[in-house]
Amino acid sequence: MSEFPVAQERKVVTSIPGPKSQALHARRLEAVSAGAGAALPIYIEAAHGAIVVDADGNQLIDLGSGIGVTTIGHTNPAVVAAVQDQVAKLTHTLFTLTPYENYVEVCEFLNKYTPGNFKKKSVLFNSGAEAVENAVKIARKATRKNGIVVFDHAYHGRTNLTFSMNFKAAPYGNGFGPTAASIQHVPMSYPYRDPQGMTGEEAAQRAINYIEKRVGVEDLAAIVIEPIQGEGGFIVPAPGFLRTLSQWARANGVVVVADEVQSGVARTGKWFASEWEEGFEPDLFTIAKGIAGGMPISAVTGRAEIMDASHPGGLGGTFGGNPVAAAAAVAVLKQIEAGGVIERAAAIELVIRERLEAMKAKYPVIGDIRGHGAMMAIEFIEPGTLNPNKAAVDALVKHCHSNGVLILNAGTYYNVIRFLPPLAISDALLNDAMDVLEAGLAAL
Ligand code: PMP
Repeated sequence: MSEFPVAQERKVVTSIPGPKSQALHARRLEAVSAGAGAALPIYIEAAHGAIVVDADGNQLIDLGSGIGVTTIGHTNPAVVAAVQDQVAKLTHTLFTLTPYENYVEVCEFLNKYTPGNFKKKSVLFNSGAEAVENAVKIARKATRKNGIVVFDHAYHGRTNLTFSMNFKAAPYGNGFGPTAASIQHVPMSYPYRDPQGMTGEEAAQRAINYIEKRVGVEDLAAIVIEPIQGEGGFIVPAPGFLRTLSQWARANGVVVVADEVQSGVARTGKWFASEWEEGFEPDLFTIAKGIAGGMPISAVTGRAEIMDASHPGGLGGTFGGNPVAAAAAVAVLKQIEAGGVIERAAAIELVIRERLEAMKAKYPVIGDIRGHGAMMAIEFIEPGTLNPNKAAVDALVKHCHSNGVLILNAGTYYNVIRFLPPLAISDALLNDAMDVLEAGLAAL
């Protein structure tokens, strides 16, 4: 296969969505549950690098990576080769019945590259939510306690337990039955919206006060936190917040779970986003999305003694750590280990940040620019206020989509645009996408 079987260029040849996508969408509306949303109903036929190709032949620059999944790039050649090789050899046994090597290899990689200088072990699943569910089970089993603390603006999934852990009941939990018990939501550090000058330590103390009053440490099993919040709008807590929380947790026998489903695996210019905060020492990590170039696989990795507290048979599932998905994960992890991938995420930040700062200086609807590496966001406000400006985001997203740039919104108030490009994107494509965005801003 040549390096780029799909030309790395933006090309809009029909209206978006075009006629073929519209016909497919009509079929979908007949066949698919209304519960599965449709942010941009263009039907994708192929993708490579940072370009997706729809049924009408439009080529869009992908600034979302399917929400942070194809971090290594679409149809990354090493991933494609590993999957093709594996699928012809072995597709399934069920690891907990008759095991196979690449499951173990994925665990070895994750044990080695998650932060924390202690003995670690891992277990594999299929989705981010499943990893979070299991991290909670593991923490409860190890501590023999029930309470789980989560944070305002958090997102952890759509299963019954994880929708109960999300900040937004609407749309994830509403109407879907009773929420899970023993979950307590506490205030996050949100530097842009916290009182001016509030330090990370102060924000952590605010959260700790809530925890001590609302839960009490006697029954607190774990704190689950995204080191950079994803769906909440790429909120980067103030320095000191994560460290202070984890020190308090350590002193009180509480397990700290870093939900790195969106932020992990080279995305932020480090192996894991937790590394951005010195002194932050999570016990467990939940990992998914970017780990396998688009194949479904997830993991819980962490302190061996916590991971081993679960009895045999307590963790697992039919498809968890499937050999084909594991082969893809090994192919991704080897490329990160070889070097250049993490550096590319850092270089992407420089390009995006420079462009966004210039836009911020010109357009007062931009209130905040934040993030690390290839996980950057802008928060939109009504100029001169902190009022969220969802209308601006909606208009910009529409403009970008119509002009061949696939862009994602985010944020509790839907007033954030987030950038999660595949790391295979070139500077030229990034700048082209930023030109489109800027033209949209000028037209607001
Ligand atoms: N945790 C975080 C931080 C996430 O961003 C997501 C997905 N957006 C999940 C958990 C859930 O992952 P999945 O959709 O694979 O279940």
